Amino acid sequence: MATRKWQHPRADERVSAALRSKCGHLLATVVAALYAAALFVWPPAEVSCFPKCLFFTATNLYCPGCGGQRAVHALLHMHLRYALRCNLLTMSALPFLAVAYDRWTTRVWYSATPAPRRPDPKAIWSLLGFIILFWVLRNIGHFPFTMLAPASVPT
Ligand SMILES: [Zn+2]
Repeated sequence: MATRKWQHPRADERVSAALRSKCGHLLATVVAALYAAALFVWPPAEVSCFPKCLFFTATNLYCPGCGGQRAVHALLHMHLRYALRCNLLTMSALPFLAVAYDRWTTRVWYSATPAPRRPDPKAIWSLLGFIILFWVLRNIGHFPFTMLAPASVPT
């Protein structure tokens, strides 16, 4: 009869935390892939299963995310110009999200990169200010700010 070697509880906790991280990463990846597949198959402007913007519904003003689903749909179909016209902020964020996802994947599965540093508060406030500025500017109904509003659905 084999005897089980006693393990220090902290080692078990580390394994458990690593397993939770991998499961969380896998779940997020599957959900994002399914959402992207749905956006690829069904145009969000024509199908009612995608969430509508509550801010636009309530105020008739664009939020920073308005047009984001159409932008991703257009990007998945290689219509880059239309994707940029739908939501410039979403399209600008995608490369940064891709890099962050790559770093997360490497850290969770290979432990090759150190844990991320605490973000600089100035960077967070700058990003928040940029998003609010984009939010305000895209609701101004005069050129060139109309270029920031989501493009209408092409016919
Ligand atoms: Zn919106």
